[in-house]
This record gives sequence, structure tokens and C-alpha cells, in this order.
Amino acid sequence: MTAFDYDLFVIGGGSGGVRAARVAAQAGVKVALAEESRYGGTCVIRGCVPKKLMVFASEFPGLMEEAREYGWGGQDGAFDWSKFRTRLEGELTRLETVYRGILKNNGVTTYDARARLIDAHTVELADGQQRRAKHILLATGGRPVRPDVPGAELGMVSDDVFQMTELPDSVLILGGGYIACEFACILNGLGVKTTLYYRGAQVLRGFDDEARGLVAEEMAQSGIDMHMGTNILAMKKSADGIRVKATNGTERVFGAVFFATGRVPNTEGLGLEALGVQVKRGGAVAVDAYSQTAVPSIYAVGDVTDRVNLTPVAIREGMAFVETVFKGKPTKPDHDLIPTAVFTQPEMGTVGLSEEAARALGPIEVYATSFRPMRTSFIGKAARVLMKLIVCAETRRVLGCHIVAPGAGEMIQMAGIAVKMGATKEQFDATCAVHPTMAEELVTMSKPVRVA
Ligand code: NDP
Repeated sequence: MTAFDYDLFVIGGGSGGVRAARVAAQAGVKVALAEESRYGGTCVIRGCVPKKLMVFASEFPGLMEEAREYGWGGQDGAFDWSKFRTRLEGELTRLETVYRGILKNNGVTTYDARARLIDAHTVELADGQQRRAKHILLATGGRPVRPDVPGAELGMVSDDVFQMTELPDSVLILGGGYIACEFACILNGLGVKTTLYYRGAQVLRGFDDEARGLVAEEMAQSGIDMHMGTNILAMKKSADGIRVKATNGTERVFGAVFFATGRVPNTEGLGLEALGVQVKRGGAVAVDAYSQTAVPSIYAVGDVTDRVNLTPVAIREGMAFVETVFKGKPTKPDHDLIPTAVFTQPEMGTVGLSEEAARALGPIEVYATSFRPMRTSFIGKAARVLMKLIVCAETRRVLGCHIVAPGAGEMIQMAGIAVKMGATKEQFDATCAVHPTMAEELVTMSKPVRVA
């Protein structure tokens, strides 16, 4: 048995893996990390970051229309996708360099290669080299899946969207989750005729009904052709695009089809089962509250564990792992009251329980107001926003906060602090309003709209 080459070997250079490697190295741990693709992972290279930049790009036509109504002159120009893409690629390369730099500057050895496990302490790289480590951290993330329909190979997934050489004239988006709704708004904003098929009754399943209802309504108002209770039966190539046969009895042709039908953990080919690392149905690595697998030397964080699949959560799981294993301070990552935002237009920001989930747990009061915000009502737009609090009738704690509004992502980060601290409705009310803002409604709603 050879000695260990490293104290820690991390597989995967995304948000969770890079953070764990860095903080471990800063604590004096000898660390190596293997990444087969680009450093930064899904979030930086093919997720949150390029997505948010596309959100910004897609908001300008609406802003220009508003500007004209406010009295500014000028005409809209055409959107130059290739100019945007070149700049985007430059930014992603810059960020990837930053990620590589973080590892290098902290003394982490990196291997630009796929890695798999040979035993509880041994990793084999794609070129056959083997390295031994006292601890191994799996941070291999996840990837988008395509539905099992004839012709599915003709469709794109989110990884492909950033690589498009030109924007299609029309797109069909399949799915009703974060990615489907965000990209429907982005592509619609960029001028692509956008249709969305979702198999369920309402998009954004699991979020507060009233909030997701308003997002769906605003999406439809902005011109997205929304079809609920609809799925794809088959797709085939046609002279003018992709012909899609759907469960609603229609056959339509779209320039592109985009599957946003969920993601699966990257666990294949890692050699996990043979080692005794338990893999759950759906492919996620099973871990305990400290992110430890059934093999004591192997831990896993981030999307590969399919707990809460968000970058900041993976980062916190990575840091808790380092506290637990290398700093002698057993730390469970806290998955309670995680604020999140869906970057639709308008955005939805949410923390805590939906009205429906809270209602099932005990008596609640619901405070909500939906109104036309000042900026766009001034120019006669019908767009509405929503501010909503779910309050426990007994403890008066705010159990949930749901915001649908431009900038809701920024607002919910702040409201999330109060909710996480256990603030009561009366403490919200004791906070002076910031006027005139949309979010001031969160501290001025005096009467519940429902008691349940
Ligand atoms: P989600 O799991 O959120 O949504 C998948 C959607 O596809 C659901 O509406 C689902 O329907 C539908 N679906 C699944 N399988 C099929 C099928 N075979 N045919 C038709 N429809 C199908 O996944 P996403 O891909 O949108 O996002 C993955 C995860 O990434 C999110 O859950 C989130 O954790 C993260 N993310 C976070 C973002 C953010 O923080 N802003 C942005 C983007 C992603 P049904 O509801 O019926 O199951």
C-alpha cells in the first residue's frame, strides 16, 4: 500500500469542488482537483452566469420601448447575436482563468482530465495515471436530459443554447421548470417567436401558486405562446425546421426545439457502485447530513447529490465538508430557508413555504398585494407585481415570502435574511418603508387577505 499523494482529491471543478479545494488548501491541506471540461462548471460556463448575461441582453427591447414612452427618441436596432456571443465567450474565458487562478494560487494541483475511482483512496485519470488520497470529494455536478421521444436528437438542451451560431426565428421550449421559464423569457425578449409546452397544469410546480400564476400570466402577456397540459409526441426534420407532433393534436414547425426537462447527476463511469458508494434511483450519490457517502473516505457535494441544486448551496456544502473533515468541526450544511430566484421577466424571488405548503402544516395568515408598479403604470402598461407574506397564526413568524417583480432576485436576498432570522410579521411592520419602492409593500400590508 503506497502512501497518499494528497490529503484530498476533488473530482469536478465546478462551484462546489473549487470552493472545497480552495478552502481546504488554505487550511494547509494538500489538495488535487481533476476537471475534464472547463473550470467553473455548469454555473460559470453553461448555466447561471451566461444565462444572466442573456437575461440582461433580452431586457433591452422592453426598456427601449419604455424609454420611448417616457419621451426618449430613437429607434430599436437589430440584436447582433454574434457580437453578444463573442463578448460572452470572452467573459467565460476570463472567469475560467479566474477559477484556474484560484486553485493555482492556493497550491491546488490540477489535472485537466476525467477521473474515476479505483478504490476508497485511489483515483485514476483518463491517461491511466493513478493518485492516492486520504479523502476523495465527488463534485461532478449534473447534466441536462432529453425526453425519450422520437426525433429527440434534433432538439437542444441548455448546454447548447449558448453555442448557437445564430438565433432561430422560432423556438419551442419543452418543460415548466426554472430553465424552461427563464429561457422562454430570454428568447422571447431577444425577438425569437417563443412557444412553451408544459405537461402539467401550471409552470413552476412547487412554487407558491399565486406567484407562479402571475409569472405565467406575465409570460403570456409578453407574447410567449404558453400551452399547458401539452407534451411532445414526436419530432422530425422538415424543409423549414423541426416538425413537432404534440399531445394536443397539433403538428407545428419550429426553427428550434429546446428541452428544459430536468437534469441528472453525473455519476456514470465513476466506478461508484463497485466501491460500495450508494447511488440512488435517478443517479444521485447518497450522502449523510455531513455529505459523507457509505465509503467513509469518500464525500460528495453539489448537484451530484441532488439535494438542493443551486450554486450557493453546493458552495456551502463544500465549505461544510472542509470544516467537518479538515478543521475538526463537524458541520452539516443548512438546507433550511434557502432564498432563490427564477430569472423570468418579471423575476420571482422566494424564500420559505408556499401558501399551499404552509396551510398543510397549521393555521396561517396570508398577506398579499398585487399592483401595477409605478415605472410601467406611468406609461399605461398593465404589468403587475406581487408581494406576499405567509405568516404563522400562532408564532407570528413569517414562514414564506414570495415576490414577483422586476428585481425580485435582489429583493429576496434581503428579505431572506429576516425570514432566516425568524422575523415575525410585527417585526416586518416595525421596519420603516423605503418610499417609493415596490418592496415597501412587504412592511405595510396591515390586513391578511386570507386566514386559513
Ligand atoms: P426542473 O426539474 O426544475 O424542471 C423540469 C421540467 O421539465 C418540469 O417542468 C418537468 O415537469 C418537465 N419534464 C420533465 N421530464 C419531462 C418529460 N419527459 N417530458 C416533458 N416534460 C418533462 O429542471 P430544470 O431543467 O428547469 O432545472 C434544473 C435545476 O437547475 C432546477 O431545479 C434548479 O435547481 C436549477 N436551476 C436553478 C436556476 C436558478 O436558481 N435561477 C436556474 C436554472 C436551473 P413536471 O413539473 O411535471 O415534473
